[in-house]
Amino acid sequence: MAGKSAPAIGIDLGTTYSCVAVWEHDRVEIIANDQGNRTTPSYVAFTDTERFVGDAAQNQAAINPVNTIFDSKRLIGRKYTDPSVEYDLKLWPFKVIPDPGNNPMIVASYKGEEKQFAPEEISAMILTKMKEVAEAYLGLPVKNAVITVPAYFNDSQRQATRDAGAISGLNVLRIIVEPTAAAIAYGLDKELLNNTGGQKNVLIFDLGGGTFDVSLLTIEKSMFDVKAVGGDTHLGGEDFDNRMVNHFVQAFKRKHKKDISGNPRALRRLRSACERAKRILSSIHQTSIEIDALFEGTDFQSTITRPRFEELNMDLFRQCMEPVESCLRDAKMDKHSVQDIVLVGGSTRIPKVQQLLQDFFNGKTLCKSINPDEAVAYGAAVQAAILDGRGNQKALDIALMDVTPLSLGYQTKGEVMNVVIPRNTTIPTKKETTCTTACDNQTSILFPVYEGERARSTENNLLGEFTLEGIPPAPRAVPVINVCFDLDANGILNVSAEDENTGQKSRITISFDKGRLSREEIEKMVQAAEKYKFEDEEHKKKVKAKIALEDYTYNLRDTIKSKNISSSLSSADMKKIEDAIEDAMQWLDGNQLGETDEFEDKMKELESITKRLMITKKD
Ligand code: ADP
Ligand code: MG
Repeated sequence: MAGKSAPAIGIDLGTTYSCVAVWEHDRVEIIANDQGNRTTPSYVAFTDTERFVGDAAQNQAAINPVNTIFDSKRLIGRKYTDPSVEYDLKLWPFKVIPDPGNNPMIVASYKGEEKQFAPEEISAMILTKMKEVAEAYLGLPVKNAVITVPAYFNDSQRQATRDAGAISGLNVLRIIVEPTAAAIAYGLDKELLNNTGGQKNVLIFDLGGGTFDVSLLTIEKSMFDVKAVGGDTHLGGEDFDNRMVNHFVQAFKRKHKKDISGNPRALRRLRSACERAKRILSSIHQTSIEIDALFEGTDFQSTITRPRFEELNMDLFRQCMEPVESCLRDAKMDKHSVQDIVLVGGSTRIPKVQQLLQDFFNGKTLCKSINPDEAVAYGAAVQAAILDGRGNQKALDIALMDVTPLSLGYQTKGEVMNVVIPRNTTIPTKKETTCTTACDNQTSILFPVYEGERARSTENNLLGEFTLEGIPPAPRAVPVINVCFDLDANGILNVSAEDENTGQKSRITISFDKGRLSREEIEKMVQAAEKYKFEDEEHKKKVKAKIALEDYTYNLRDTIKSKNISSSLSSADMKKIEDAIEDAMQWLDGNQLGETDEFEDKMKELESITKRLMITKKD
């Protein structure tokens, strides 16, 4: 294939995860790596025989901590004596020393020899990996790339990133800043051109794995101007993982009278399980953790609910709002003059974080239709296509404007519309989410697929339905069902549901006739949604109250079964609690269509009985 080379790619070189994307067939494709993951850990590891990059490096970190390198982005383009380097040094398990020019050098043992690596070299290894991921997908050698950096990176840090690109054999077409890439991904600059022109203020909220960046951009005539930046260089998903790890270390201590906190391998295994659980809790309300032989041959099993996870992190989540305020203050801007708020970074998938931010902006809709951990690479790929002249401008414009006119989703418990692809999402698009069972031993789930803006599914337009069967009997909320909505460029929607445990899968294909709904009809549906917002909110509240009561009742039932609680209660008290649970379950069966206050009253009644009797017990 002499002479032929692949299109330019976009790379988000992240502190904890990196992502690569390409403009192809008039759309952006996020490229999955050899493990099937759309983001790759920014990790490099050295052993006596091999070098690993990405998932493989991260996976062996527990057994090889001193030679597993991460966070090279925190070092790149800085001097050894930089206060931030001095601070980070204390946190890393690997060794960093100064070279004669006072540049930090990372020390690792590779093939039995002690080696020194500049941060640029480590970053280059990650870039090479991302390049290879793209080449495997495109089947051609890749030469050109756009790479992103944080808005606060100075010249030296930008130049060092450019050097890392050169070391990896890439021709760096341009370095662009991450918030700008995210704004480009959403076509916010194009939107301006297509309207009357003018100026637009955009807030980019980027909560990643180890860093939190807020930026205020002004866009005018396709020019991006960073007005203010803020954030916290040591706040992100890893802190949320740590809180959960500590929670389970305590739980292990209580249950098995053993302290695992001095055992790095056990902690590392627990940490990966916690990260996984955290991701699941962004889409469902409860999940479990199971680790065989975690410590001294003892297995560990536990569950965690979303409210518990939120409680563990609430102070950190709140901490994220402060930089938003200070950023606005620095830009001398009022929050009402921000037209768009863009979510970036994997941790903004956490519903509570979204809610706090949305509340801060008085309920304004957030831009989150592009996966937040992919938005930066997405924008970099668009920029790359423009720069290498392949993405014909017209196609770029059209693709950015071709969106879903109505939200697509499926019905969940209580006739609630669970939106998977929000209205105005650029197509083609693919969105995944997880769901679970509502009752104990439920072996099948019905998926009615709807389009529309109403919170109550039955008010929307039913497109079709299918059933997933053969779920092995289990307590409610335990099975993990992956649901995928895939809408292709021709408007064909494929919805599938797969039981993570058994691999059992079921699906439906729905084809949308273009123009099936007229503009007026769509407009009408959107207006109706506005009009019925209040009514829908009431319905949502009702379902929420019911689910809260159900959750409380079932969790109580499980807690009661655990030995240390039952042994601390007299059998008379125990009986009272069991009766109250039984009564609540029966009441729920007969009152599925009850009102919000009825559910709340029942909840209070049950709480008062159990709190009185279990006053000394806390989870
Ligand atoms: P970086 O900070 O390196 O740019 P990302 O933006 O990809 O990286 O963010 C990575 C963080 O996002 C990790 O801490 C990861 O656990 C977290 N994350 C990814 N998906 C989810 C999810 N569904 N819910 C909560 N956190 C998530
Ligand atoms: Mg990032």
